[in-house]
Formats: sequence, C-alpha cells, structure tokens
Amino acid sequence: MNPPRRVLLLTTPTSYRTRAFVDAAERLRIQALVVEDTPEVLRVSRPAGFAVDFGQPERATEEIVRLVAELPVRAVIPVDDAGTVLAARVATRLGLPSNDPDAALAARDKWLMRQRFAAAGVRAPQAQAFPALADPREVVADLRFPCVVKPTRLSGSRGVIRTDGPDQFVAAFERVRHILASDGIDLAQAWILVEPFVPGFEVAVEGLLTDGRLHVLAIFDKPDPLDGPYFEETIYVTPSRLPENVQARIVATTAEAARALGLWTGPIHAELRVNESGPWVIEIAGRSIGGLCSRILEFGTGMTLEELILAHAVGDPVPTIARRGGAAGVMMIPIPARGILKDVEGLERARAVPGIVDVEITARRNHRIVPLPEGASYLGFIFARGDDPAAVEDSLRRAHRHLSFRIAPELPVVPLASRR
Ligand code: ADP
Repeated sequence: MNPPRRVLLLTTPTSYRTRAFVDAAERLRIQALVVEDTPEVLRVSRPAGFAVDFGQPERATEEIVRLVAELPVRAVIPVDDAGTVLAARVATRLGLPSNDPDAALAARDKWLMRQRFAAAGVRAPQAQAFPALADPREVVADLRFPCVVKPTRLSGSRGVIRTDGPDQFVAAFERVRHILASDGIDLAQAWILVEPFVPGFEVAVEGLLTDGRLHVLAIFDKPDPLDGPYFEETIYVTPSRLPENVQARIVATTAEAARALGLWTGPIHAELRVNESGPWVIEIAGRSIGGLCSRILEFGTGMTLEELILAHAVGDPVPTIARRGGAAGVMMIPIPARGILKDVEGLERARAVPGIVDVEITARRNHRIVPLPEGASYLGFIFARGDDPAAVEDSLRRAHRHLSFRIAPELPVVPLASRR
C-alpha cells in the first residue's frame, strides 16, 4: 500500500516561508504536518511531536520519529535554514530520500563548508576559524586586508562584516561575538570565521538536485553592489543579463560546490561572486530562497517554487521546470535606520508603478526594526514583472522611491531609581 500523501515541514515560528509551503501542499492535495522549532520551556502548551527543540537534534529526531510512526510521511522538508540538518537526520532514520546529515551540516556550517571546498578544489575564499572567545588583538597581526568576519551558523548576512584594517577588525570581531552572545549561543563552543574579501559582483542560483544532478531554476543578478561593510541584500532580478558563457561557469561552479558537500537531493540556494578569475562560491545552502522572494518565480504551467519542491519530494511527475513569465524581480526593502516603525507612506503610489505586482511590508507597526549586521528580519518586499530584466529593475527602483518610512528612535531605558 502506498503511504498517504503527507509530508513533514520543519519550520520556525518566525519563518517567512511556512505559508508558501502550506499553501502549495494544499494545492497539490498533500497533507502537511508542520513541526516548529520550540525551545524546551515553551513546549508544555504544544502537542507532543509538533513542537521540538531543533537545538537538541538527537532528542528532536526521536520525537519526530515517534510522531510519524502514527502519521507516516513521504518526505521531510526544511522550509529554511534552521531545519535542514534535522530534516536530513529524520529522513535518513525513516529511510526516505534525503541529503546525508553530514552533507546537510556542511551546507549549514560555514567553517565545515570552507574546509570541504578547499579539499575539493572549489573556488571559494580560504577561511580561518578562531574561537569566539579569542582576543582579536592577538590574531590581527597575521591577517591580510580587506577581510570578512562572520559567524559560522547564522544566516541572512547577520554578523557578516568587511574590515579594511586592524582597528576595524578588532571592532568587528567583538561585534560578531556580541551578536552570538545575544542569540544565546555558548561562546565557549562557537567559532568566528575570517576570510579574504572577494571583490566582484554577485549572483544567486536557485536549483533543484535530483540524484546529485543540478537543475537550475533561476540565476538572479544582484544589480546593487555588495561591497560592505555590511551585506544587505536588495534587488534580485532574473533572468540574468550576464553573457551565456559566464552563466555556464556559474552553473558549473554551483554544481561543483554541491558535489563537494555531498548535497544530493532537493532545493539549493547558492551565492556566488564573480570577478576576472571567474565565479567564487560564497555559500550554498540546502534549502530554497529566503524571505518572500520566491513569489516572483513560476514554473511550467504555473507551479510555484514550493509546489515544485513538494512535487519533487513526494515523487509526483513534474512536466517541466522551465521558469515562465518573462523577467521578474524582487527588492528586499533596505532598512533605513534602527528604531520603532511608526508608519509607511507611499504604498499605493509604489503599487501603481508600471511593472509592480505587489508591495508587502512585513515589519509590523510599533515594532523594532534593526539593520544589519545585528538585524534578523525584513522590512518588506517589492515584486515586479516585465518584458526584460532592465525594465524590472527600473520598476523596483521607482516603486522604492515612492516609499517612505517613519522610524522613531528607540528611547534609552532609564532605571526606575533615577526617574525623579
Ligand atoms: P549568510 O549565510 O548569513 O547570508 P554569507 O556567508 O552568505 O552569509 O554572506 C552574506 C553576504 O556577505 C554574501 O552574500 C556576500 O555579499 C557577502 N560576503 C560574505 N563573505 C564574503 C567574502 N568572503 N567576500 C566578499 N563578500 C562576502
């Protein structure tokens, strides 16, 4: 008897991606069991198995295996970075097709990733790892500048800082350490990476692996320079305007990177920088594109990216993975300042710009917004379509110019005793 059309989705309470996967499952008539990362203290109020602590992978694996003994699934799918390693562990235990947990870990941990790339000869910056508690003044003498300081396990460019000299390096190292500490990460166990800054422009590759073969779903140009000191993503536009031969090298390097880590099945999202030496892999993750960016992608006869991933995972036939719909782009709206978001103006005018499909502000009014390198969430997204990539980029920029954000400064907390 065939197991029911059911999948397990691993997600976090703040993920931007859950809704898109749940909607896709519904359209494909697949039942989705959603399991959320939930710290131990909050678990009492949630039914067993549906809330597990991703930070305790052994225990989480056992709990999920028990849950799916009652409710068998055909695939375990991480909706974003947080669940990739756990998904591989659970799927491997259940004998379901998946990446090896070791490969999933190498795609999640930037230090392991750098080591695998170096061993396999993949063109990527050569990183050094220092204990998070190391004294940056003691390591600075041996460094060459510019270099990039970054944590090993965060995402969305959090804590990624370019430094051009010793003083900046010391400050950046301490800042990354502070970010790790404020995330509750045990500094005694944590590492901080330092690697050469790779000059050039940047692209992202969205792909799907089947038995180790890479199918490219989209190559995105990132027309805004990403030269630091912080690396806030803004515009993604597809198809790429790069010459065919450059695109071919980007694809070949992405495939090499996946192979070097042992990634074998499911979605990948890669970031590469390109300069006169060719493409350099900054990172390849075993998950699909983040935020709400996937909304601009449509495949075959109108499938969403999430439908494609789910269909691939449960073994439904996928007639074609060709992207359709001309040129498309998204802007992750830059965060102009730290503070409390009070108001957004110009939404209707931005939406009325020709080519704009939608503008969605995801940050909530009266909530704190925090820019990089500390920030972990988006202000919002602008989506556009058009006949060609240049027109799409132009629509995104014009729409963005209509938006203005009123951000109130955060007031310092005054201790009660000193309030007179
Ligand atoms: P995350 O997983 O948090 O996004 P990445 O390692 O992918 O972290 O870095 C985020 C961004 O920072 C990259 O997309 C790139 O723009 C920039 N970056 C990171 N490392 C380097 C590097 N060695 N050289 C140049 N830019 C880098």
